[in-house]
Amino acid sequence: MVTVTTVDTLQEAAAGVGREAVYLGGGTLVMRGVNYGDQQISEIVRLRSQDSLRSIRSKGDRIVLGAAATMGDVLRSSDCAALHTVARQVGGPAVRNMATVGGNIFAPHPYGDFAVALLALDARLRMSDGSDLDLETLLAARGSERRLVESVSIARPAGDDFRFRKVSRVKPKGVSLMSLAAWLPRRAGRIAGARVAYGAMAPTPVRIKAVEAALEGVRLDANSISGAIAAAAQGLNPPDDPLASGWYRTQVAPVHLKRLLLGEGGR
Ligand SMILES: Cc1cc2nc3c(=O)[nH]c(=O)nc-3n(C[C@H](O)[C@H](O)[C@H](O)COP(=O)(O)OP(=O)(O)OC[C@H]3O[C@@H](n4cnc5c(N)ncnc54)[C@H](O)[C@@H]3O)c2cc1C
Repeated sequence: MVTVTTVDTLQEAAAGVGREAVYLGGGTLVMRGVNYGDQQISEIVRLRSQDSLRSIRSKGDRIVLGAAATMGDVLRSSDCAALHTVARQVGGPAVRNMATVGGNIFAPHPYGDFAVALLALDARLRMSDGSDLDLETLLAARGSERRLVESVSIARPAGDDFRFRKVSRVKPKGVSLMSLAAWLPRRAGRIAGARVAYGAMAPTPVRIKAVEAALEGVRLDANSISGAIAAAAQGLNPPDDPLASGWYRTQVAPVHLKRLLLGEGGR
């Protein structure tokens, strides 16, 4: 039997989650687990209202998204225009109506497309205990994290500096064989401080630092990015799943990275 505990604050919810008690965001994964009889879930901890965690607002050169903002909220926000292409590719309309930003950060392989974009956009998290944490650090310790995410702050990319690509076998709602996001700020036409992240290529979304390093100071043209393309799968050991083997994922990574960087085949 699954019990449900309803609390008023995120702090109370964080105190209530544990080995068998799981926090409920939008519930697209948690409730699917319950409905399929997941024995690891014996208690659900939920907030009476998530409204205060749903806002999306600008803060200087950054955007702050409440953890309970849904993909639908993102699509309705003009502040988040750069992320519309990402949110639109998370599941179908019913999923997007419920799926939250916070839940996407904890979604297991091959999910987490939105988190890939957040990672590329230098996401910093405000946690339920009031502390700040960068997304990369949280993802590295995701399995042992007991705090909850309150909000996510990301850089606001200029012009076409942000790119996202989801590769799947079923369009438009299939899960990712690979997802790629890049934030490519440029100074005098040359990349300065690129951040590149992949999804479905490791147990969690990951930054691809060899690619980032190879992009530093180069122009975005086919010749100049050859070093980055050569490093596309460096150090990765992607998982096998019913969609593709890890070997296949490493073989196609350079192709999709090139398309992402050169803006070929849509962003
Ligand atoms: C049919 C279907 C299609 C899908 N397609 C995609 C897809 O294309 N791309 C994709 O990325 N995902 C996809 N998903 C997965 C999922 O819908 C999304 O990843 C979604 O964003 C998860 O958010 P949620 O709020 O529903 O999470 P929930 O189910 O509520 O929670 C998922 C996990 O996150 C934790 N969690 C939730 N909020 C917080 C928080 N604030 N702080 C800490 N932990 C938290 C929960 O405790 C739980 O462990 C799909 C799911 C389904 C059922």
